[in-house]
Amino acid sequence: MAVRLPPNGVLPARARGLEVALGTGNRRQTQIASQHILDAACTMLRAPRLRVDVGGVRPADGDGELHGLYTPSNGGPKRDRVQVWMFTARRRQVVAFKTFLRTLLHELCHHLDYERLQLDDSFHTEGFYKRESSLMRAVLAPNVAPPARSRASGADAASPISTAP
Ligand SMILES: [Zn+2]
Repeated sequence: MAVRLPPNGVLPARARGLEVALGTGNRRQTQIASQHILDAACTMLRAPRLRVDVGGVRPADGDGELHGLYTPSNGGPKRDRVQVWMFTARRRQVVAFKTFLRTLLHELCHHLDYERLQLDDSFHTEGFYKRESSLMRAVLAPNVAPPARSRASGADAASPISTAP
């Protein structure tokens, strides 16, 4: 049940764009960059597109801060939605880039559980975190040259990201 992602330079490039946007502290730029990276990931993974909303300060209660939230549309007219927040609750600082990116990919993994793997529920299993980590590695990888020879499209043409070093 590996999540497969073709080798590419698109996601790393968009991740760098997100890092720059987040660094400005500008919510709109961060939202656009976040949408770009998840759009590319959903296209590559052949999952329906998501709507990304980037909020300001993380909601917090006595138990901690909420990093992100995935809300499936459950067949409704709207897209499945990912919410992430870009400022920490306590110190009101911009969330660290890798933390923010991991949250985005974490919510994407919930989406993939339902849409790609056709699971009835999306739990934080060991497999879930493996998928999250392998996506993280793929997105943070240095630019990868396209394969030397072209191969037919389809799942077989992709390398399983879960086995990436
Ligand atoms: Zn989760």
